[in-house]
Amino acid sequence: MGDLAEIAREKNIRYFMISFVDLAGTQRAKLVPASAITGVQKNGAGFAGFAASFIMSPADPDLLAIPDPNSLIQLPWKPEVGWLASDLVMHGKPVSQGPRNALKRLIARAMEHGIDVKTGVECEFFLITPDGQAVSDPFDASNKPCYDASALMRRYDIIAELSDAMQTLGWEPYQSDHEDANGQFEMNWKYADILLTADRHVFFKFMARSIAERHGLRATFMPKPFMHLTGSGCHAHISLWKDNENVCGDPGDRLELSPTGYHFVGGLIHNADALCAMLNPVVNSYKRINAPRTVSGATWSPNTVTYSDDNRTHMIRVPGGGRFEIRLPDGAANPYLMQAAILAAGLDGVEQKRDPGAPLFVNMYTDGHKVTDAKRLPLNLLDALRALDKSDALRGMLGDGLIDPYLALKTAEWNTHCGYLSEWERTVTLDC
Ligand code: ADP
Ligand code: MG
Ligand code: MG
Ligand code: MG
Ligand code: MG
Repeated sequence: MGDLAEIAREKNIRYFMISFVDLAGTQRAKLVPASAITGVQKNGAGFAGFAASFIMSPADPDLLAIPDPNSLIQLPWKPEVGWLASDLVMHGKPVSQGPRNALKRLIARAMEHGIDVKTGVECEFFLITPDGQAVSDPFDASNKPCYDASALMRRYDIIAELSDAMQTLGWEPYQSDHEDANGQFEMNWKYADILLTADRHVFFKFMARSIAERHGLRATFMPKPFMHLTGSGCHAHISLWKDNENVCGDPGDRLELSPTGYHFVGGLIHNADALCAMLNPVVNSYKRINAPRTVSGATWSPNTVTYSDDNRTHMIRVPGGGRFEIRLPDGAANPYLMQAAILAAGLDGVEQKRDPGAPLFVNMYTDGHKVTDAKRLPLNLLDALRALDKSDALRGMLGDGLIDPYLALKTAEWNTHCGYLSEWERTVTLDC
């Protein structure tokens, strides 16, 4: 794909939405009229990095967002707008804090091993009232709401509009369901190359919010919006390819994983603590992992750094067929940084030939207490950030130019959180 001005004429695009994702995972954009796109395609659209979530100063020059024409998506609900993912440049060089830039660096690193990574994500979300306080469907109150046919059909208008949109865009959606929490849904589309899936992940969140709003509701990907209900995960499924052959699989192995697959999993296990800082990036994330049982009977999220076969109570599930599922990431994960961090940890495993240990064939929800040597996940964001700070592997792979600003941003977020006095503290401490 080439000249955006010409594409605008062919496709009747009136405005281009020059979009990027900042360090906090927020999507930012400018609308550029088609008449001005030639200059922006060449030189980028200018943004003040300090005004977005980057560790930059108001005195810094503009961040230039250079649109990637291959990422073009006409908004299904307003096709005259053409959405474009972009790469961030400053002083003529890629910005090291740019999440999409970071993912591209890791893709290049994987290519040095001849590895092409394919991935699919499962973005769970809640449809809630516009004030953000409650599940939007008052009838959706069962303790076992997963796959509830009536609750699904009461949200048919939104789900079908999203599914139709993905169909039109060629994403190959294949199922949508009501998930395990009241008000919670999941929509699945086919896996693809890691950068394409990351771009689609950004767009899916934007599209789900936009279409929900058009129906008078609100979509949230917050990891744990309601304490007693199952939280929103964003599982990632991964396979590794060389010359169009899946080198992650070995049909003769018990988990149908190849040595390369085991090493990649070994890297995820070895670096799990530090990985949480990017896969579970907000204070609220730690109310989803390590959670007490929810009203449905299970949290569906991991508590331990363990892996197994087709068993959903571990951090990594290996369902067979030469792929594995990492169940850690949640709805707050930055679509680019989460894939970059998974690649970083996995490639560290491949390069260092990390041994994941033996798989555990245990129901961790009922019998986890018997596995006394299982490594636990970080209990809060601060522990995860400290682990990331100390992780030579992730620093080496992702670079200090990303890790240091990321830690600065997230440590500031943790400190803001500590500045709040909660009702719980008052209750348990007033009479001390
Ligand atoms: P589950 O709920 O059982 O974990 P889903 O069907 O909701 O699974 O999601 C599975 C995701 O994994 C989809 O995005 C799918 O396209 C993706 N996937 C399937 N096979 C592969 C593969 N070989 N490599 C990467 N992703 C895959
Ligand atoms: Mg201005
Ligand atoms: Mg699923
Ligand atoms: Mg799910
Ligand atoms: Mg899953």
